[in-house]
Amino acid sequence: MNSVGPIKTVEGLERAGLLGQRDREALAEVAAHYAIALTPTVAGLIDRTDAADPIARQFVPDPVELIVAQEERADPIGDEAHSPVQGIVHRYPDRVLLKAVHVCPVYCRFCFRREMVGPQGLGTLDPGAMTAAFAYIRDHEEIWEVILTGGDPLVLSPRRLEEILRQLASIDHVKIVRFHTRIPVVDPSRVDAALIAALRASGKTVFLALHANHPRELTNEARAACARLVDAGIVMISQSVLLKGVNDDPTVLAELMKAFVETRVKPYYLHHPDLAPGTSHFRLTIEEGQKIVAALRGRISGLCQPTYILDIPGGHGKAVIAEQSIRKTGEGCYSVSDYRGAEHLYPPVA
Ligand code: SF4
Repeated sequence: MNSVGPIKTVEGLERAGLLGQRDREALAEVAAHYAIALTPTVAGLIDRTDAADPIARQFVPDPVELIVAQEERADPIGDEAHSPVQGIVHRYPDRVLLKAVHVCPVYCRFCFRREMVGPQGLGTLDPGAMTAAFAYIRDHEEIWEVILTGGDPLVLSPRRLEEILRQLASIDHVKIVRFHTRIPVVDPSRVDAALIAALRASGKTVFLALHANHPRELTNEARAACARLVDAGIVMISQSVLLKGVNDDPTVLAELMKAFVETRVKPYYLHHPDLAPGTSHFRLTIEEGQKIVAALRGRISGLCQPTYILDIPGGHGKAVIAEQSIRKTGEGCYSVSDYRGAEHLYPPVA
């Protein structure tokens, strides 16, 4: 059964036939902590006959979310430590996050900002906070790129987005505007002419990082939405999270990366899952992740290879965590492994 509107409650999930064997009382407790939302598109993608459906696993809450592991934390990537003014995260010198809104069209069960997003989250920046955020960007000439994230910035109306982007247009040192979003996949019809015009309103170079984790998310409608964006001159890159029970299989991951490239979305980041509360059922070990990522080498084109990264807990930024294919064996001498795992010597410079 497909829903006609967004699903935001346990009762709504039940009506849509999405609860399976899950315990309703425990789910009510989960819902009291962490927001629920599925768009009709996402609900329609779920195979109700498959108890391990990878789309359901990403969006339908599970009582296991009530188990908080000792190493998990409310702010796993340390946004707070790098927030000079409300809504801005300035972790690296040349770029800032601008978190204008903390609402999403769907709530991912593994979300790294799950304590901040949703109806009980940090909400939308008020006009005073927006003015202070723009003043911060204006005063810091080293800021070359502004990344609109949140929440999902594309839930804002085109009019609201355009207001934000017109502010950025007036700041000369900002050259790149990047959006992080799930909208083209979870609500593709929202990507219409008005939204695209708003995205381009800054006059800057625009990148859009599309979040998707399973190849089934890239439906014909999602691909058409991406085509509209790319045809309008917006550069698209991908971001995915390596998730147990969703895409922790080289065949699935290869299919996902190929689907991105076919859609003109360049694979960019593959995140190791963050230490968000109640998400340990999604986490695999770094060794397991490295093996899966190594299996992509040689199997799919270089165009399809993402960078496997970890956000170092505590706000220390991103680190590439893929296995090294090179090791030093002597002075200026290296052993380099090919995609089949065979090692070859690389000699010192004569
Ligand atoms: S769309 Fe992004 S911010 Fe929103 S719930 Fe999913 S992972 Fe979190």
